[in-house]
Amino acid sequence: MTATEPDETSIDSAVTDLGGGVWTIPVPIPDNPLGNTLVYVLESDRGPVLVDAGWDDPRSLAALTSGLTAMGTSLADVHGVIATHNHPDHHGLTYAVVEASGAWVAMHEADAAHVELINTSPRSRWLEHHLEVLRAAGAPQEALDALTSTRKASGVVSPRFRLATPDRNLVHGELADVAGRDVRIVWTPGHTPGHVCLFLEEGVGTGPDRAGRLLSGDHLLPGITPHIGLYDDTDEADPLGDFLASLAKVAAMPITEVLPAHQHIFTDAPTRVAEITALHEERLVALHARLAATPLTLWEIAVGMDWNRPWSELGVQNRQIALSEAAAHLRHLVKRGQAGAVSTDDPIRYGATA
Ligand SMILES: [Zn+2]
Ligand SMILES: [Zn+2]
Repeated sequence: MTATEPDETSIDSAVTDLGGGVWTIPVPIPDNPLGNTLVYVLESDRGPVLVDAGWDDPRSLAALTSGLTAMGTSLADVHGVIATHNHPDHHGLTYAVVEASGAWVAMHEADAAHVELINTSPRSRWLEHHLEVLRAAGAPQEALDALTSTRKASGVVSPRFRLATPDRNLVHGELADVAGRDVRIVWTPGHTPGHVCLFLEEGVGTGPDRAGRLLSGDHLLPGITPHIGLYDDTDEADPLGDFLASLAKVAAMPITEVLPAHQHIFTDAPTRVAEITALHEERLVALHARLAATPLTLWEIAVGMDWNRPWSELGVQNRQIALSEAAAHLRHLVKRGQAGAVSTDDPIRYGATA
């Protein structure tokens, strides 16, 4: 997430009845400018089904628990959890929900594979991987040293996340298992490879014209744009291309209202899609112009892009995120035939090709 401005944080429990058997509970993400994750609760014939669970923290669990109680149900009654994607502000708390309720957990297989990787890889391998990414990008030695010392100091090298292993697949075009409701799974890769939106088919009629509300996860947010990083090491991966295609997919749907996982509910999905698409196109045009002027390493590309703070003020973790976002933009220019490697030097430099 690239949060540009703090959102209202609600630590007190709150639940809002959105009508039609859909509720929302803001679950705080402590010490994060994003404020909270909007967890949605779908009433079903077999008990409440959550769309996302929130961040793994006792305060977050307390907010979710009291929100469910205020609805007239309970944490123990939760029948299932649908994860829009595997990020910790969405899927972190699923583990605790499953412990309390025995609920099933559904996720797209591309994100489930990443959960498996996180749960089985030693954290030292994670550090080694990211050091290699920095080296290959042409980062200065001090950036590598900063990453190593930050990771060791924060203890991320040893302990593990508690990420719930999904036991159900979310398959694009199918209905999710929410008894008594038509909840269509819409695969929207980009922010993560297995991100999904959920379309509540509530309007009259059948087929693709049937209108409804879209639970958009992090794919479509009213005031911020999701982080798009190079999440895959293969040359085929084009997360930004995937994201732009996923935005177009959503813009074509008969959406009455967007229920995002952060900030607030909004209407007019096509306008928001157009704004986000234009933002990325501007960044692509700017990057192409820089590459046409002089070949650059990936590190140099990232340092020269516009971020929400000056590069010198970005911490180690935000620089990692920025580097990954820069890599996704570069990859998309390469896929469009507008950029490519100009040498096989280490680090590789890239230039404009068209
Ligand atoms: Zn996310
Ligand atoms: Zn999020």
